Amino acid sequence: MKPAPFAYLRPSTLEEALAALAGEQGAKVLAGGQSLVPLLNMRLAAPSMLVDINALPDLGHVRVAEDGVRVGALARHAEVLASAEAAHAQPLLGMALSHVAHPTIRNRGTTVGSIVHADAAAEMPMVLRLLEGSVDVASVRGRRTVPAAELFAGPLESTLGHDEIAVQAFFPGLAPGAGVAFQEIARRHGDYALVGVAAHVETEGDAVTRARLGFVSVSDVPTVVDVTDALDDPAGTALTELEPADDIHATAAYRAHLVRVLAPRVLAAATDHARSRAG
Ligand code: FAD
Repeated sequence: MKPAPFAYLRPSTLEEALAALAGEQGAKVLAGGQSLVPLLNMRLAAPSMLVDINALPDLGHVRVAEDGVRVGALARHAEVLASAEAAHAQPLLGMALSHVAHPTIRNRGTTVGSIVHADAAAEMPMVLRLLEGSVDVASVRGRRTVPAAELFAGPLESTLGHDEIAVQAFFPGLAPGAGVAFQEIARRHGDYALVGVAAHVETEGDAVTRARLGFVSVSDVPTVVDVTDALDDPAGTALTELEPADDIHATAAYRAHLVRVLAPRVLAAATDHARSRAG
């Protein structure tokens, strides 16, 4: 199918892009287009205007600092994945990004666009939530920082206003004594996960002081469950908060089974990772 007609603007400054969004209620941001263009072609979205942000300056960075990794709105998944410094500061980025789609899509799709798209079947919204990161947002009304815990409103729905552009995502670095792991089951590598599970574990000596799991494709919104008090049965606790559903790819029962298989495995791997980093 072909999209419904829309106006197209390719501004060269952030101010111009923000003014266009503020002036047109039905406008949408176009970043990598890897999710939006299929939606347009299937007529599941019909914006009156596309504001293409690809010509905006200074948004392509993958910047590593002491506190973590800052990813600009025009940094492609492939660029984040290729950054050895980013992987060193926060290993979960590379672990999860290698499962995001295929190289051609990662070459164009942006990590920030994936987060704003807020798909509970996507890896990076869950990763941002598990790491307790945030998104910096700009509009003609000013700038604000949205913590990941306040970013996801519903299926494919973020809390950003129609006039806002996410300019950067912040992924905190991995603290000393912490470890991470990620595994997913997909029909083919790079397909959307039937189920994906990430773990973030904090340790002091031999003791696990905090353990959290993030889930892909088993809820309507990116979901994180604290399993610090359920280290012997993380899946049982998680399944009380998750909502595995039937679709054409898998049954709810199979998804729950995968949660039971992956949750303890990933928790153990993150605990080993934390201990190996401790020395
Ligand atoms: P776009 O498609 O341009 O935009 C997506 C949405 O976000 C739109 O609503 C747009 O208005 C909004 N938006 C984008 N950027 C901004 C911004 N900076 N500020 C405000 N709003 C913004 N993803 C996965 O996570 N895992 C997968 O396994 C996976 N497999 C895929 C397989 C295929 C065949 C395809 C086509 C895509 C797949 N994707 C997958 C999606 C891919 O990761 C996209 O890159 C990502 O979802 C969206 O990024 P984008 O830059 O292409 O955003």
